[in-house]
Amino acid sequence: MLVSGGAGYIGTHTCVALIEAGYDVVVVDNFSNSEASAIKGVEQITGRDIAFEQVDTCDIEALRGVFLRHEFDTVIHFAAFKAVGESVAEPLKYYMNNLTSFMNVCALMKEYGRPNILFSSSATVYGEPDALPVTEQSPRQPATSPYGNTKQMCEDILRDCCHAYDGVDGIALRYFNPIGAHPSALIGELPRGVPNNLVPFITQTAAGIRECLSIFGSDYPTADGTCLRDYIDVVDLAEAHVAAINRMVGGKMEEKYEIFNIGTGRPVSVLELVNTFERVNGLKLNYKMAPRRTGDVCSVWADTSLANSELGWKARRSLDETLASAWAWEKHVRNI
Ligand code: UDP
Repeated sequence: MLVSGGAGYIGTHTCVALIEAGYDVVVVDNFSNSEASAIKGVEQITGRDIAFEQVDTCDIEALRGVFLRHEFDTVIHFAAFKAVGESVAEPLKYYMNNLTSFMNVCALMKEYGRPNILFSSSATVYGEPDALPVTEQSPRQPATSPYGNTKQMCEDILRDCCHAYDGVDGIALRYFNPIGAHPSALIGELPRGVPNNLVPFITQTAAGIRECLSIFGSDYPTADGTCLRDYIDVVDLAEAHVAAINRMVGGKMEEKYEIFNIGTGRPVSVLELVNTFERVNGLKLNYKMAPRRTGDVCSVWADTSLANSELGWKARRSLDETLASAWAWEKHVRNI
């Protein structure tokens, strides 16, 4: 199977899970936001050599070469830019990259008769939901960033391709908030520069790289005033991909295009997450309350019953073990 963006955070963990489930993977990545060491980590964990092609999926002729050199029926498309704030400042960079690379993948899958496309979507498509938890039927809200818009547009592109082309089937997985790292601490998230996401900022603060964590907003209408999210262990998330692939290659899809929420179903506040991180890792974090961050929604968490029943998958790991793995990974990266 082809894994685009397979050197990235979710891509590496998914490659490990796929290999452990008996699948062969070919990774395509241009290292625009990842490093060759990530592939080495996957090789160390699995004890296997990873077939790797350093190709930009926006370059359709280079990507065609990958299709011609390798046999696969399935692609998992992770390759995308993902920084929400940067997408507001540089929308064309996001539209060009995220849409071109996905359309290239879809076009070549169709051209070469490769049937199964799995797309990395996001809970961001739900915006600020009217009702919680969100199901796959909950309405998508107008995107509040070009990044979010590319997720919605790619979902629509995949849906339309699946309906128009006999030989193309698709699944979109809507990820909630992936956090943590592989328990080996050999792979994990490698943010460049100042992290935008909560858990990398927490671990870097604990490591002394950042002085103080700002908790964005303490006046939300929630029990402790901070935002609620559905934080899912990246290894659970990786296993959801294997379950979705099993469904596709096993011919068990009920529709040509299907969508699944991938979360835990449990809302956790920012403050609760920070307190849990401190407790499980036995340390004190320097943090302060700060104003709300523009564009943040107050609360979003998943109804995961469809993924539970149709994929036979469930998030199993506790927040405690996930936050321990996040800290173990940061310590590994920093040689602490
Ligand atoms: N957050 C925070 N401080 C940070 C980064 C994030 O308080 O330095 C909060 C953010 O306001 C949100 C939650 O943590 O409520 C998760 O943010 P993240 O960027 O990780 O994911 P998002 O849900 O925005 O995709």
